[in-house]
Amino acid sequence: WSEETKAVVTGGNKGIGFAVVKRLAELGVTVILAARDTHKGEAALGSLRAQGLGRHVHFLLLDVSDPLSITAFASEFQARFGPTLDILVNNAGVSFNDVHENSVEHAETVIKTNFYGPKLLIQALLPLFRPNSSNMIRILNVSSRLGSLNKVRNPAIRKVLEGEELEEDEIDETVRTFLRDVRCGRWKARGWPEHWTEYAVSKLALNAYSKVLAKRFEGSISVNCFCPGFTKTSMTRGKGNHSPRDAASLLATLALLPPPLLPTSKFFLLRSSHLAP
Ligand code: NDP
Repeated sequence: WSEETKAVVTGGNKGIGFAVVKRLAELGVTVILAARDTHKGEAALGSLRAQGLGRHVHFLLLDVSDPLSITAFASEFQARFGPTLDILVNNAGVSFNDVHENSVEHAETVIKTNFYGPKLLIQALLPLFRPNSSNMIRILNVSSRLGSLNKVRNPAIRKVLEGEELEEDEIDETVRTFLRDVRCGRWKARGWPEHWTEYAVSKLALNAYSKVLAKRFEGSISVNCFCPGFTKTSMTRGKGNHSPRDAASLLATLALLPPPLLPTSKFFLLRSSHLAP
């Protein structure tokens, strides 16, 4: 891979996102490290430069929960790089899993960040993907096995989301229904996932949207989901079975697979047993 290859990594200032930026830079890719805080983004870039890796890494401001920030990010990308994007890693995410009460505010923030963030960003960046790429465009959505359909106890919701002809509108409607159920305090009775509820629903919606996109862009854009497994980051308060670097190494391998091996519409899960001891 040459420095002509361009990747955007959201939430690139720490955790798995930072490790992905670093790994892609080590492999020779030009990386746009996107972060929602200027100070944190520049500090992350500074740390890569200190390791001799910052030459082809650029920092751009991006809060994925804010549609105006997404628009500004896309304009800035267009102005600086033109339509040259090859790889988008939607990594930024939040969870309030240590809080046991589901609050309306948390649910709205999690859905806005983990589902609408990647969705609106993909829509804004579509015109900026490299046209006629012989390498095929790649979107990797960092998701979670907590967003598996089998966590949903309501069969009607499961049926909608596993349908072969699933439409984008149906996913949006499912998410709106979830938020209504949280507002009315009836999410439990309606059979939404019992654990890490809002986070699970955000990733469930992201997985479903990825399937819809993979079908829509079959042959031109590969769209896959990647669950890093239980990884030691601030999201898990430092607990986990492996490091962000382990997760980033597999993610970068997937992101850079040559076209004949590049799948689409797949869900990849890193288990610690996959890692060399
Ligand atoms: P961290 O909390 O370490 O990092 C999260 C990153 O997302 C930070 O850079 C954070 O920025 C950024 N972020 C949060 N909200 C926004 C926003 N609105 N706009 C832009 N950036 C934002 O967590 P991880 O590295 O563990 O998480 C990375 C991804 O991996 C997430 O999508 C998560 O759901 C997923 N994941 C993680 C697992 C784990 O065990 N760690 C397991 C399964 C999935 P800031 O520093 O400004 O807060």
